[in-house]
Amino acid sequence: MMKIPFLRPNLVKQEALTPYISEIEASRIYSNFGPLNTRFEHRVLDEYFDNIGAVTTVNNATIGLILAISQCKRPKGKYALMPSFTFAATPLAALWCGLEPFFVDIRPDDWCMDEKLLCEWLQILGDQVATVIPYAAFGTNMDLDFYRQVNESGVPVVVDAAASFGVTGSQNHFGRGFPGCVVFSFHATKSFGVGEGGLVYSANKDLISKIRQAENFGFSASRETTLPGLNGKMSEYNAAIALSTLDVFVQKIKARQQVHSWYLEQLHQKNFFGKGWTIQKSEGEIPYQFMPICCPEGRQNVDVIHALSNQNIEARTYFSPPCHQQPLFIRYPNTDLKVTERISSRILSLPLWEEMTNQDVCLIVEGMVLS
Ligand SMILES: *Cc1c(COP(=O)(O)O)cnc(C)c1O
Repeated sequence: MMKIPFLRPNLVKQEALTPYISEIEASRIYSNFGPLNTRFEHRVLDEYFDNIGAVTTVNNATIGLILAISQCKRPKGKYALMPSFTFAATPLAALWCGLEPFFVDIRPDDWCMDEKLLCEWLQILGDQVATVIPYAAFGTNMDLDFYRQVNESGVPVVVDAAASFGVTGSQNHFGRGFPGCVVFSFHATKSFGVGEGGLVYSANKDLISKIRQAENFGFSASRETTLPGLNGKMSEYNAAIALSTLDVFVQKIKARQQVHSWYLEQLHQKNFFGKGWTIQKSEGEIPYQFMPICCPEGRQNVDVIHALSNQNIEARTYFSPPCHQQPLFIRYPNTDLKVTERISSRILSLPLWEEMTNQDVCLIVEGMVLS
C-alpha cells in the first residue's frame, strides 16, 4: 500500500448532492440540457465569464475538443498544430476530426508551445493548417493575446484548457473573452472534478451554438440532423455534482494552493533550486492539479520516481513519454522537439490533493533528498 498516493480525488459528498438529486427525481429529466445543466451553465457564464460569450457542457473534455475542432477547423486544412508535451487526448481529438497532429516544441520556462516557432510554421504550412491547439500546461494562466491574433488571422484556435477551470489572472477567469474555443475538463482527477464532464467556452456565441447542436446528434430545431454530430451531453446527475462543486470550489482552490505553497517552502528550505531542480514558470492563481517539477540536468525522472516508490510515495511522469514518442503518434510531422525531450525526460509530478498535510509534503521532499 502506498503511504502517500499520487492523487486522492475528493468529490462533493452525498449530503451536498441530496437537494439536487431530489430535483432530478421531481422533474424526471435526466439529460438533454435539463434544468440543472442549464442552471450550471448560467452560473458559470455569470460567475466566471462575466456573461461575455457562451458556454456548453460536454460529457468529457476529449469530446469537447473533438466538437470544438470539428466545428471550427478550416475545411481544406490538414494539420492541427499542437505541443507534443500534452496528454494524448489532444492529438487523439485531432485524429478523430480527420486531421494530422503536427507537433511543435515548447518553451523551457513555462512548458507551453513556443510561439515564435509556431509563427514560423504557420508561415511555412500556410493553408495546410486546419487549426492550432495550444495546451495551457498544468493550468498556467497562459497569455492568450498571441492566440487571439492567430484566431483573428483566420486560423481557428482551440485551447486545451483541461486543467484550467478556476484559474484567474489579473482578476479575469482564464479564457474570458477569447474568440476561439476554450475546453475545460471536469474529470475526477482535475481540480473541478465531477467524475466525467467538461465545458466549452467561447466569446463567439454562434460557435458555441454550433457545438451545442453537434453534441446533440447535429439536430436542428426541427430535430433533423444537419451537422455531423454525436452525443456529447452531460447528464443531470453530473450537473448536480457540478452545481454542488461550484458551491465549495473556493475552498477547494485554497486547499490546493496551500499544499503547493508548502511544497515551495520545503523545496526552498532544502535548497532544491540551488541544486538545479526547476519548477514551471507560471502565471495567475492556479487550483493546482498536481506538483510538477524537473530534476537536475543529467538525472532521469524515472530514477526519482523509483526512489520515491521505494518509500511508498507515488509520483507520476506527466508528460513523459511526450506524444511524439508514443506508438500511434510517432509517424506525424513535428518541428525540432529538443526542449520537449529535455523537459520530459526530467519531469515528474508529485502528489497533490486537498487533504494533504504539511507533514506529507515534508515526507515527500525528504524522500526526494534521499533519491
Ligand atoms: C485531462 C486532460 C484531457 C482530457 O480530459 P477528459 O475530460 O478526461 O476527456 C485532455 N487534455 C489534457 C491536457 C488533460 O490533462
